[in-house]
Amino acid sequence: MIPQDYHMHSNFSCDCQWSMVEMCQSAIERGIRENGFTEHYDLHPGERCRDWFRPAPWWEELAHCRERFAGQLTIRAGIEIGEPHLFAAEAAEMLATLPFDYVIGSLHWVGNESVFDPGYFQRHDSDEAFGAFFEELEAMTRTADFDILGHFDVPIRTAHAIYGGYDPQRHEAAIRAVLRNCIDRGIALDLNTAALRRPANALTPNLTILRWYAEMGGERITLGSDAHHPPHVGANLTEALQAAHEVGLRTLTFFEQRQARSVPYVLPLPAEVA
Ligand SMILES: [Zn+2]
Ligand SMILES: [Zn+2]
Repeated sequence: MIPQDYHMHSNFSCDCQWSMVEMCQSAIERGIRENGFTEHYDLHPGERCRDWFRPAPWWEELAHCRERFAGQLTIRAGIEIGEPHLFAAEAAEMLATLPFDYVIGSLHWVGNESVFDPGYFQRHDSDEAFGAFFEELEAMTRTADFDILGHFDVPIRTAHAIYGGYDPQRHEAAIRAVLRNCIDRGIALDLNTAALRRPANALTPNLTILRWYAEMGGERITLGSDAHHPPHVGANLTEALQAAHEVGLRTLTFFEQRQARSVPYVLPLPAEVA
């Protein structure tokens, strides 16, 4: 069994066309015990799907899935809020509408530039592009209200095609400041496997960052496939957990009603269902 997959989308996110039922069925087929839907809630003015998320019908569908898959799958109510530090009032308003189990905070924009736009990396060199990103991430983790930091160094997904890679050591001070904020405020890290399925072939956060986190006393991690279609549910999570084990992190964190609970995990997990 795979203990959790805490980062996935359904057709309540505008970049995903699969239903919650289909995502849940895939989770059960892949031996996942507990999953969480984390639809995009993006408010940046440049977002194509700005303010797209509708909580009421989503909650209805979630309740339907909980009933339908009771005894097979524990389904958590998450949300992935983009730049929660810049839209604190709107985020708080959204969080007041439903009893969310956890909130992923994600940085997708640096100022007016999207880190999924190759142009961002063409206009700036690697030091500039990643430096500005981590600086903004420090501000986000210092003030915003969320439980899990989404895909720590996500720019690598797009940057890989332009620079080939990046060296976290060149940003060590800024990255450690982010980690310090997370540890001090009890924010867990999303071990996000989406970039392992892209040319970047990297866990986000990458292993160096994960090692710094463990060294600094960080303990809270969650597993996230960031699946946007059923075959990706649970993908590469065994690999992510092995990375965590390698740096000495021994528990997974679970959330219910925004309360964290850390549970030791057992390796090896079974080989993934293809
Ligand atoms: Zn994201
Ligand atoms: Zn996501």
